[in-house]
Amino acid sequence: MVEANESMPSPGRPHDVVVLGAGVSGIYQIKRLTDLGLDAIVLEADDDLGGTWYRNRYPGARFDSESYTYGYSFSRELLDEWHWKEHYSAQPENLKYLNFVADKFGLRRFMRFNMRVLAMRWDEDARTWHLTTASGEAVETRFVICGVGPLSMPTPPRIEGMADFQGESYHTYYWPKEPVEFAGRRVGVIGTGATGIQVIAEIADKVDDLTVFQRRPNWSAPLNNSPISEQEMAAIRARYDEIFATCRVTPGGFEHVPDRRGFWNVSREERLALWDRLYDEPGFGIWLQNFTEIFTDEAANAEFSEYIADRIRQRVDDPEVAEKLIPKDHGFGVQRVPLESHYFEAYNRDNVHLVDISENPIVRITRTGIQTRDAHYDLDLIVYATGFDAVTGAYDRIDIQGVDGQRLAEKWRDEPATYLGTMVNGFPNLLMIAGPQSASASTNFPRAIESHVDWITDLVKYCMDQGLARIEASPEAEAAWNEHVREMYQMVLMRKAKGWFTGYNSNVPGHEEGTIRYLVYNGGAPKYSRTLSEVAADGYRGILQSR
Ligand code: NAP
Repeated sequence: MVEANESMPSPGRPHDVVVLGAGVSGIYQIKRLTDLGLDAIVLEADDDLGGTWYRNRYPGARFDSESYTYGYSFSRELLDEWHWKEHYSAQPENLKYLNFVADKFGLRRFMRFNMRVLAMRWDEDARTWHLTTASGEAVETRFVICGVGPLSMPTPPRIEGMADFQGESYHTYYWPKEPVEFAGRRVGVIGTGATGIQVIAEIADKVDDLTVFQRRPNWSAPLNNSPISEQEMAAIRARYDEIFATCRVTPGGFEHVPDRRGFWNVSREERLALWDRLYDEPGFGIWLQNFTEIFTDEAANAEFSEYIADRIRQRVDDPEVAEKLIPKDHGFGVQRVPLESHYFEAYNRDNVHLVDISENPIVRITRTGIQTRDAHYDLDLIVYATGFDAVTGAYDRIDIQGVDGQRLAEKWRDEPATYLGTMVNGFPNLLMIAGPQSASASTNFPRAIESHVDWITDLVKYCMDQGLARIEASPEAEAAWNEHVREMYQMVLMRKAKGWFTGYNSNVPGHEEGTIRYLVYNGGAPKYSRTLSEVAADGYRGILQSR
């Protein structure tokens, strides 16, 4: 919590910058701004820092990026001091890490918690933003930088009777801090995305009985996690420069380098040899070290998907259950791939049951469990792992009024429009970290976040140095970027997928099937970073600038 008078503007004087959100983005952003000596604060809706890693406390929550490619790269001292204990670190340790970073650099004093911003209004005369929080506090600032997160607006399903349930029920994002009892209990999980898959694998052997209510299966492959010894951590530290250099040049911002031999240029035996190797390797290698054609070529994708389907058949004892766990409506990797630890083996346990709700739909939640068309399932605990109103959801929940009272949620009703994923025409002095149409959600988040924060910080500094009071994306630049983002979708099979990358969410009115929304940048992290650098070097072309 900010000390009295610290980082508070003198009466009548707005802050230089207000950052929204104290997650991975906000923590680094406030460091950069305060290092410049700017009057900047972070407003955080929760009662502590950490964002994603503060909220997602559900059992099994962990990185699917390598821990050491997820951590910040900006401080050599930090890299030398922090020891990642696992290759894919779990939520408690990740939250500890973010607290360690904030405390090491003395960043808490710039953070104000329990400050949920409900409304923001642009004042054209004063060239400032007026923010109002849920508790009625008013904050004025020249610039707003949003670090509100692309996956921070959870969407419980809209099923009749949810409030009637007498047992415990949680959306995974709102998992309680207090331990949840599993032993001896009958648990139902709705949702089999990355979150559901982690939960199911983690609790299968801890509960009395587990029923998974699956609408559509997801392609998933082994995480192959393992501990990191002192010795290995020392070797990683020695390699940090090389690790981050590789992350800068790979499309996904990972150490995984795509296989560019050409899917059809090598024999089937060579393809199988690669896949056999990658399936046993840790992390996203199976997705991102693969042939690039699996992202773009239907036939290549189908052959690889069949390989993964066979792997599932080998791991699941009951052939009928195995077939239900194999996606039939999309190929491997065209939606975000969940990584798993013994997920498929969970279905070999006598206490785990799979209910295919695409065949046998949920009719309602009752006082004692879940009623499907064909049966009633008695439950003590229901877990809603039903995902998020992704990318734009957190923005839509703030009443953001720009020039002439135009509302951002209105402008983005059908799909977002941005310049570079960082700015919006009609909304001056508003900047976004990992915003819609940026290369973040489609890449290793923190790598993208660091580059966005650096670019945004340079832009704010440029404004200060040049005495600019107002910057705004030009309508032409925004239109051109939107066109480019659309073109990038046309190049990948993902455009056909029904997942959050295309803005699908059955629980949000208007985001149901059939409404593709161009939410992410698919041109890869290096191309995106190059564009950011070129725009800056070109005097921030496409950004209207005035004093
Ligand atoms: P998600 O991928 O959107 O999955 C939501 C799941 O809930 C889907 O299986 C969906 O089924 C189901 N669902 C939604 N509404 C439903 C309803 N009304 N009735 C029945 N089923 C319903 O969400 P998520 O699993 O939370 O993952 C979101 C993203 O968070 C991931 O893609 C990833 O980027 C990130 N994440 C990362 C990690 C990590 O390892 N670091 C872990 C978890 C999440 P349909 O497929 O039929 O819609």
